[in-house]
Amino acid sequence: MTAGGSGRPRLDRFASAGALWIVDLDGVIWLSGEPIGDVSGAVADLRGAGVTVAFVTNNSAPTTDELLDRIDRVGIRASAEHLVSSAEAAASLLQPGESACVLGDQGLLDALTARGVEVRPRGGAAGVVGWSRSFDFDRLAAVATTARHSGILIGTNEDPTHPTPGGLLPGAGSLLAAVATASGVEPRVAGKPHRPMVELLRHRFHLGPDGPPTLVVGDQPETDGRLADALTTPFALVDSGVTRPGTVVGDVPVAVRTADFVHLVADALDGRWAARHDDRQLS
Ligand SMILES: [Mg+2]
Repeated sequence: MTAGGSGRPRLDRFASAGALWIVDLDGVIWLSGEPIGDVSGAVADLRGAGVTVAFVTNNSAPTTDELLDRIDRVGIRASAEHLVSSAEAAASLLQPGESACVLGDQGLLDALTARGVEVRPRGGAAGVVGWSRSFDFDRLAAVATTARHSGILIGTNEDPTHPTPGGLLPGAGSLLAAVATASGVEPRVAGKPHRPMVELLRHRFHLGPDGPPTLVVGDQPETDGRLADALTTPFALVDSGVTRPGTVVGDVPVAVRTADFVHLVADALDGRWAARHDDRQLS
C-alpha cells in the first residue's frame, strides 16, 4: 500500500490483518516479571485486529515451558511456535548429530537436544556459551578447551549485563568473554541482532518480499533496532525498559517511539499511523 505516489509504504499496514509483530519480552512486556501496564489487553486487541504476535528473547536460560509460563503469568497465552530464543538461534549453528561442550542453563541444553546435538561434558564440534549461574573454573576450562581444539565458539548473546531488581548482574556476554579469552577463539554470536537469529526468524515466519508486513518492537536500539534493520522491517522503540524517555538514540532507524507497548498498540489500532510512512525514521 502506498500513499500520495511517494512510493513509500504506509505505516498502518503493520497494524492491519495479516501483519506480524516480533515483540521483545524484557523491558517491553515485563520488567522483573511484572507486566508493563495492560499488556495482555494490548496483545488481545492486536490479535483481534488480525495481527500475529510473536515473542523473541536473548535470554537462553529458561526452557520454552518456563518462558511460556512467564508469559501466561502476565495474562498472555502464547504457543511455542510463536516464541523464539537465542538458545534456538545458537543451536541452529550446529548440525544434528554433532556434539558440543556447553556452559549454559536448561533452556540452552533443551534447544541443543531438540536440534539433535549431543551435549558432552568436554570435547565436541564446538564450545557453546549461554547465561548460567553454574559458572566455575572447571566449566570454563572444559568449554574453552573444546573451543580451542574445534576452533568454534558459539555464544547465545553478548549482553554484558542484565538488569535485576537488585541491580545489574553479569550477562551471558561476560561469561562468553571469559571463554573467548581463555580459548583465543573469536565467538560467533547467535542472538539478536546477529545473523543466526535473523535467519531463524526469516525461516520460522516466512519473512521476505512475499511474507507478512513485519514490525519489530523492543526497548534496545542496539539489539532490537539492529534486528529490525537486518530484517529490513520498521522498528518500534518503547521507553519502558533499557531506553528511558528523552534518551537520544544513536544511528539505529526508529519508525515509531512510544512510552510503552500499551501506548504503541493503542496508537497503531486507533489509526494514528494512517498518515505516516514506513521511512524507518522518526519524522
Ligand atoms: Mg528488552
